[in-house]
Amino acid sequence: MDMIALQSGSNGNCIYVEADGVRLLFDAGISGRQAEQRLAAHGRDIRDVDALVISHDHRDHASCLGIYQRKYGFPVHVTRKTLVICRSKHNLGQVQDVRHYTAGASLKFGTVTVETIPTPHDGVDGVAFVVDDGRRRLGILTDLGHVFAALHDVITSLDAVLLESNYDPDMLAEGWYPEPLKRRIQGRRGHLANSEAAQLLRTSASPRLQWVFLGHLSEENNHPALALRAHREILGDQMPLFLASRDAATDVLECEGLTARGLCHARSLPQERRTRPTSVLNENPPTASGTTANSCQPHGNYLEQCAYGLGLSRFLDSGLVEVVEKRLHL
Ligand SMILES: [Zn+2]
Ligand SMILES: [Zn+2]
Repeated sequence: MDMIALQSGSNGNCIYVEADGVRLLFDAGISGRQAEQRLAAHGRDIRDVDALVISHDHRDHASCLGIYQRKYGFPVHVTRKTLVICRSKHNLGQVQDVRHYTAGASLKFGTVTVETIPTPHDGVDGVAFVVDDGRRRLGILTDLGHVFAALHDVITSLDAVLLESNYDPDMLAEGWYPEPLKRRIQGRRGHLANSEAAQLLRTSASPRLQWVFLGHLSEENNHPALALRAHREILGDQMPLFLASRDAATDVLECEGLTARGLCHARSLPQERRTRPTSVLNENPPTASGTTANSCQPHGNYLEQCAYGLGLSRFLDSGLVEVVEKRLHL
């Protein structure tokens, strides 16, 4: 199973997942042209997508669903309530191929199942997703409202997850947003703070969870470095963490299980920073490229490398990192 986060953030969301020959898009919050170009950069043709699935009615998830459907011809899976609100709020135009689902239902696409999980977010009929191909389970969990009970079991069941880590509470408190908007974001129908997402992972992730993508970061009320730090403080060193970008697509993330736990390697790190604890070294099988995960930094710089691999060059200020493998294996 492969995932490409074409964009994730409060400015627009679109996630591509490919499993067992089934190609799915989740949400249409960036322009069709952007989605098409970003997929093409990874050798994928948007016209090969089998279906678009919409999570909820907010602009950053649904505003372009009509364009996608007309331009590329694939069916749009959306709940009735969400579509009604989308039609009233966004200029959808004609949408010819609509397949309604009920929040909480499981959708079948060949051998792939998409579970929809109702959320307490302030969309009208919002859901989050788990994609299951019978071997691996990938969560696409954003716009969650708060950490509701069902989320724990969902997290425990996953092999990989794109998880909302929307805001830093101090940045939000000190920022320019009007008070009602601040209350909305922090409220039980808003978004998860960095520390809430990290605590959720700490309490509920099982050993099968291979990687975490932090997504839906706020531009005004968060910073990638703050999000990473908050998660490291709570999760420790071992969990592979990545950042989805607000402006660009990630590389292809594989969720295949047994290839390697090492995700990247650095070629120019000072020696003392290249050494991993023995207990970690011994856990790492060789990567497909023949390197071992031993050369992978497990802590702060490890994250910087990974962030670099995803185009977040601001993490390169330290000058420590030369290169990251383009394709991330798990
Ligand atoms: Zn959103
Ligand atoms: Zn939303």
